[in-house]
Amino acid sequence: MDITFTEEDHSFRAEARDWLSRNVPKERPPDDGQGLREFDLAWQATQYEGGWAGISWPVEYGGRGLSLLQQMIWHEEYARAGAPNVGTSFVGLNDAGPTLMIHGSEDQKVRHLSRILEGRSIWAQGYSEPNAGSDLASLQTRGTIDGNEMVITGEKIWTSYADIADHQELLVRTDPDAPKHKGITWIICDLSPSPPGLIVEPIRMLSGIDRLCRVIYDEVRIPLSNVVGQVNDGWNVVSSSLYLKRGTGRIADQVSLARTVDDLVELAANTRGPHGPARALDNDELARRLATARAEVIALRAMTYAELSRVERDGHPGAEGSFGRIFHALLSQRVHRLALDILGPRSLDIDGASDDHYWTKEYLWSFTETVGGGTSEIQSSVIAERVLGLPHDR
Ligand SMILES: Cc1cc2nc3c(=O)[nH]c(=O)nc-3n(C[C@H](O)[C@H](O)[C@H](O)COP(=O)(O)OP(=O)(O)OC[C@H]3O[C@@H](n4cnc5c(N)ncnc54)[C@H](O)[C@@H]3O)c2cc1C
Repeated sequence: MDITFTEEDHSFRAEARDWLSRNVPKERPPDDGQGLREFDLAWQATQYEGGWAGISWPVEYGGRGLSLLQQMIWHEEYARAGAPNVGTSFVGLNDAGPTLMIHGSEDQKVRHLSRILEGRSIWAQGYSEPNAGSDLASLQTRGTIDGNEMVITGEKIWTSYADIADHQELLVRTDPDAPKHKGITWIICDLSPSPPGLIVEPIRMLSGIDRLCRVIYDEVRIPLSNVVGQVNDGWNVVSSSLYLKRGTGRIADQVSLARTVDDLVELAANTRGPHGPARALDNDELARRLATARAEVIALRAMTYAELSRVERDGHPGAEGSFGRIFHALLSQRVHRLALDILGPRSLDIDGASDDHYWTKEYLWSFTETVGGGTSEIQSSVIAERVLGLPHDR
């Protein structure tokens, strides 16, 4: 991909910067619960009304149909402006929406796509189970067809935001006798209003935040018209949507880490250091780590551009995309640890009234980065086998 910015790209950037400077919410989003839902939906609606939702979604589905480079520019300006993380809108915008565009029926597209963009619905992803995470195709939640309904029984875990979502993209086993990748179906499960037999239990995390849930299905009945793609073809639905998802879902996070490092430099300039009255920024060790972090986010930016280039060329980020994901996850953990070292003992006051606990919660959250959406070990195996050509580890 040619990463030379055209006149059009420059004016797009200027327009985005101007709009964001006037519209980014001043307050931080609540940590979880209904407050977070309302905050995220309102912010998504504001972006939609301003013409900034679905930058790279096709025009026919309500997006702007712009280039990947312009999507990247938007992410950069978004992070620069300190706009909130995509949060609860993540699954709808980056996964369910693109999947419905490719595999959804006309009725499913009409019913769901505009609601996602307009900030009128939140989606959750019901893939992982207690015994199916890295090896997702081992999932056992059962879907049995009964007339024009599917009856679901089983359990999903680590479902982000299931307690405040409207719909769930659900993977169930519909043919237990078929090879494990062949007997899976992708179906839309409505979470609100909650159907009989469905129980959602939030899981309290170390940080005291409730963003993940356990979801139990006890003969939950879903109309067969909610199946996306064909019955037993769910693995294909998950895999082949990759083209439209284009593997760019995590780019926003990668870009926003640069902003976090800038915020830390400011924090260090305004915080008393660990030894004596001097600013944290005057501490040699902290200053050296901040400088290293700055260099590393620049390296991450270069990797992100290389990833975009591969997506533009091949339609997906390829196995090399795992380099950026691992590097980002580990760098994010180092950066958030740095925040705690700048704050010193104040960071232990997790329930305190000051703003310091924000950094402590972000630090604890950063541990999830090497797990969610595919662990670093799995990403490392992808690199070993598919990039380096090493033998498969049995
Ligand atoms: C913040 C967060 C949000 C999440 N949100 C969702 C969501 O919305 N929906 C959803 O469905 N899931 C979600 N997940 C779950 C996530 O996808 C799984 O945690 C992840 O896929 C790992 O699966 P697991 O937890 O079952 O761990 P396991 O697969 O049991 O792995 C345990 C450990 O063994 C290692 N391991 C496993 N297999 C191998 C192997 N072949 N080679 C080397 N090492 C291996 C792993 O790397 C890991 O260290 C979320 C997770 C987190 C942390």
